[in-house]
Amino acid sequence: MNPQRRHGIGMTSARTRERLMQRLRESGIDDLRVLEAIRQVPRHMFVDEALASRAYEDIALPIGHGQTISQPYIVAVMTQTLNTGKRLHRVLEIGTGCGYQTAVLANLVDEVYTVERIATLFRQTRNRLFDLKYRNIKFLHGDGLKGWPEHAPYDGILATAAPAEVPHALLDQIAIGGRIVIPIGERTLQKLMLIEKTLDGFEQREIESVNFVPLLSGKI
Ligand code: SAH
Repeated sequence: MNPQRRHGIGMTSARTRERLMQRLRESGIDDLRVLEAIRQVPRHMFVDEALASRAYEDIALPIGHGQTISQPYIVAVMTQTLNTGKRLHRVLEIGTGCGYQTAVLANLVDEVYTVERIATLFRQTRNRLFDLKYRNIKFLHGDGLKGWPEHAPYDGILATAAPAEVPHALLDQIAIGGRIVIPIGERTLQKLMLIEKTLDGFEQREIESVNFVPLLSGKI
């Protein structure tokens, strides 16, 4: 990796990164730990070099294979919704993609377990996050519809691809008191849902309308 790319994209990068943080605060992101976790992630390292100059705009960008890196605002909302204030030990992420959301989570919680169905993305992202010195992330090439039962229960589960309904495996694998943050719905019409497991069952709440790629079954 060329050193200039590793250390930033020139004089403007600190300013553009600060502008993004400002924008997130203005959009209602007020959890300081979440903002700090986002500030630490060099988003330009997660997209193709040709798109690096746009990495600190608050937009989704293509990452190949018909997938996208989530918009920073959405990453912030999801992370803030997952973060109850009490330290999260183990979090499961469904849909590793380029690993941007994964890295934000890794700055905030003890261990991140992340599942990706596309082999190429799984490999690329595992290498990328290793190069970026993250050591508290475990990667699985698998079908996130099944969760990752070996490490359950999780204090939090976050999905970055949308199924039509909440997968049963995820309801089974969340700890009591834990939260699932997941987009639910059809291709263009989805709601970001917060599902909490209590002693008596599940409580669910709508957060906002979102637009994610579909959660597809099986791995490729
Ligand atoms: N947070 C990611 C979002 C990537 S897009 C980022 O910022 O880059 C969603 C990802 O979910 C894609 O990589 C897609 O391949 C993956 N995905 C879709 N269905 C899946 C499934 N059943 N199991 C695991 N990953 C899945």
